Amino acid sequence: QAKRKGKNTYCCFNTELEEYVMTRVNTETRLYEAIRKQDFVLHFQPKIDLQSGWLHGVEALIRWQPEGQKLIYPDGFIALAEEIGIISQITEIVVRQVCEKIACWQQGALAGIPVSINISAIDFSNSAFMNRLMQMINESGVDTHLLEFELTETALFTDLEHVRKVISELKAYSIGISIDDFGTGYSSFSYLQQLDIDYLKIDKSFIQSMKNNEKSSAIIKSMIDVARNLGLKVVAEGIEDENDAQMLCLMGCHLGQGYVFAKPCDEKQLEMYVKNQFRRQPYVL
Ligand code: C2E
Ligand code: MG
Ligand code: MG
Ligand code: MG
Repeated sequence: QAKRKGKNTYCCFNTELEEYVMTRVNTETRLYEAIRKQDFVLHFQPKIDLQSGWLHGVEALIRWQPEGQKLIYPDGFIALAEEIGIISQITEIVVRQVCEKIACWQQGALAGIPVSINISAIDFSNSAFMNRLMQMINESGVDTHLLEFELTETALFTDLEHVRKVISELKAYSIGISIDDFGTGYSSFSYLQQLDIDYLKIDKSFIQSMKNNEKSSAIIKSMIDVARNLGLKVVAEGIEDENDAQMLCLMGCHLGQGYVFAKPCDEKQLEMYVKNQFRRQPYVL
């Protein structure tokens, strides 16, 4: 960019860079502060069983809530947290909050709903940290059948032996495993057969291009078929359209998540959702 603008761009570039660095340093400082004060809230997005219309579970999605300011979404701070080496502290906060929620929900309408948690590849590759997480979960006394970890393909593409070991430990604790954003990374089907995985989540970019795009639909159909043949449950994420939902159901996709069913919402709204429309109309196959 600087090159294209020509001679006088050094000054301009420096100012931009300076501004960038200042904002970043500022964000970093605020993020440390946020961790200290635990200024994060969880939103929950329903996952729907496409055939029956029943709620299957929810995904916990973190939001940063600076005092008196607007919520900051994960795209605005997770990568930074990973970069500066504080993602594990955020993961701990999320896991602790989820365990507390599950315990507290046992009293009411949200009892028994499984919750999935996004685990950064950096955390997943750290055995000591994963052990600490499991210990924390154990001590919380939460029913681990209700917990699921979502891992991206990057997390699996390091040391396969390590990955296999951690996954089998999680499974021994009855924690479910999802592969998130499938199709965007290395997308190797071979690890799917080598690892004890429960769910495959097809990335929303495929779902969002399936309309009027036969190639996209063909890829989705193949992913569903392979996953089903390997005994995995398939989740389509980012469904925004009723027709797409029905189509995915016809293709054999088990679960769906997306704005067409429900946006991520806070605990109160989730309770309303569950009370009011616990079951959607099932699709007629
Ligand atoms: P993800 O795990 O793939 O989560 C799905 C994202 O898609 C969420 O964005 C969700 O709000 C959004 N989404 C759901 N349905 C639709 C839809 O129909 N249309 C569209 N356009 N978007 C939809 P969100 O909450 O902003 O999170 C973004 C990403 O940040 C997540 O992607 C996940 O990778 C990461 N993330 C979220 N929470 C955590 C966390 O607690 N820890 C870590 N390490 N990462 C997290
Ligand atoms: Mg996820
Ligand atoms: Mg995803
Ligand atoms: Mg995604």
